[in-house]
Amino acid sequence: MYYNASNTLISRDASNASAIIATDRALARSYAPDKHGWSDMGLLQARTGLANALLDVVMKQYIQEGVLVAYSPVQCGNCNDQNLVDPDEERCATCDTVLTEAEASDQVRYRVVQQPMMPIFDPATASDTYDPHCARSRRGP
Ligand SMILES: [Zn+2]
Repeated sequence: MYYNASNTLISRDASNASAIIATDRALARSYAPDKHGWSDMGLLQARTGLANALLDVVMKQYIQEGVLVAYSPVQCGNCNDQNLVDPDEERCATCDTVLTEAEASDQVRYRVVQQPMMPIFDPATASDTYDPHCARSRRGP
């Protein structure tokens, strides 16, 4: 498990254990050291294969446990960047405008505020720096 909260949730209700295990990993993949790593229902569904209703229940439990904070992302009004951003960020990453006047969206995202207990290897987000182990496996036997 990447989060203690996951063990807590399973000990409370073991019927959701497989959903919790899948979500535990998906949330760890979304964590970023600046605490602005996030996930949303679409991403979580793709990563866990869980039904929306069940995910919704599980997300509320992780919010209660302090792993996640739900928020509505905002859109920068200056550069009209299509990227939605975390309102907790002070400035737009594209044009550096202060985001206090930014327009709220109707979407919901989950900010992953708790650090996983162990690092996760994810080829999709891993850096391009040289890793002898990866280089070997890419060449094949
Ligand atoms: Zn901007």
